[in-house]
Amino acid sequence: MTIIRVLVIFLVFWLIFRLIRIKMDKNRVPGKKPPKIVNIKKCQYCGVHIPTKDSIKSGNKYYCSTEHLNLDNQK
Ligand SMILES: [Zn+2]
Repeated sequence: MTIIRVLVIFLVFWLIFRLIRIKMDKNRVPGKKPPKIVNIKKCQYCGVHIPTKDSIKSGNKYYCSTEHLNLDNQK
């Protein structure tokens, strides 16, 4: 029975440690996103900033929507 007790105590401490770590991580970056994950491109037509994965690419230019791609090509 003592082995189980030790395991339970260890588990409780591990859980407390994990909760503290999660809390500390949240406090460290309040509302701030890590910059390396999202690549931002500027729409050539309206100038809005959009993540590269959500943008429409045309040659070397990026657009926020196909509408702006077409409008820019009509200029
Ligand atoms: Zn746009």
